[in-house]
Amino acid sequence: MTTLAIVRDVAGVRAHVAAARADGRRVALVPTMGALHEGHLSLVAIARAHAELVVASLFVNPAQFGPGEDFARYPRDEARDRRLLAEAGCDLLFAPATETVYPPGFATRVSVSGLTEGFEGAVRPGHFDGVATIVAKLFGMVQPDLAVFGEKDWQQLAVIRRLVADLDLPVAILPGPTCRDSDGLALSSRNAYLSPQERAIAAAFPRALHQAAAALAAGAAIDATLAEAGSRICAAGFAAVDYVALVDPDTLVPLATLDRPGRLIAAARLGTTRLLDNLEVRPDGLAPAA
Ligand code: AMP
Repeated sequence: MTTLAIVRDVAGVRAHVAAARADGRRVALVPTMGALHEGHLSLVAIARAHAELVVASLFVNPAQFGPGEDFARYPRDEARDRRLLAEAGCDLLFAPATETVYPPGFATRVSVSGLTEGFEGAVRPGHFDGVATIVAKLFGMVQPDLAVFGEKDWQQLAVIRRLVADLDLPVAILPGPTCRDSDGLALSSRNAYLSPQERAIAAAFPRALHQAAAALAAGAAIDATLAEAGSRICAAGFAAVDYVALVDPDTLVPLATLDRPGRLIAAARLGTTRLLDNLEVRPDGLAPAA
């Protein structure tokens, strides 16, 4: 177990980063909103494999929650997060107060167009402006060489890659594969909202996506397969399906034919909880990605 240092101000995090750079150590950042699980810790392990100073940030960013969303009740347990990060080999926790991130007079908003309009952006207006702004801000505050983001939030990963490319930010973006429970449900801090009954139903969501991905890879018609997946999710007891779509992995433009690898992305509501998931879909016979 490493000793986890904790800083809450920009000068403190910059001092650690400057000391690392001075002796040639690379710096990795893993941004989180806390309520950590194995998915977050897998990103720390990726960071650890690529850098000698691993910084995790913990900030429940009010700007990415809409009115009526779960900002107030989002799970928070910093003591537990600190323990898990230390066990995972993280060196530094950057846990700023809201006033540190958004001091009086803060007036800048970073907005990525196009990519942010559909799917999560359509269901949660303003969400990706909040995400792009905090990620740009964290990169400015911490100044990492690389940052690790989960594939679990596929659209977010695409938005961040666009942001970094468009603004020439000198940060390499590394994706981390989605960590799942034994029944296939993607780990998420929001899974804590599920009742035991809902948790039992939840596995139908990734199961329906796996079935759809296999059918699509085998050449099934796209529209009918996506509709069938939606019906299966609802039949299992979900309240609604926000979207199930087959898209280009980078642009998120829906694919009319599966003539190259695509991404099956989906969001659905179980009671009052929204679950997200996504899978790669490769046409059968296409060689796996290198
Ligand atoms: P969050 O704390 O939900 O904002 O997530 C922080 C980071 O962890 C983001 O890059 C997420 O995509 C990533 N993440 C969340 N769930 C998982 C998971 N099940 N597997 C891998 N990464 C994840």
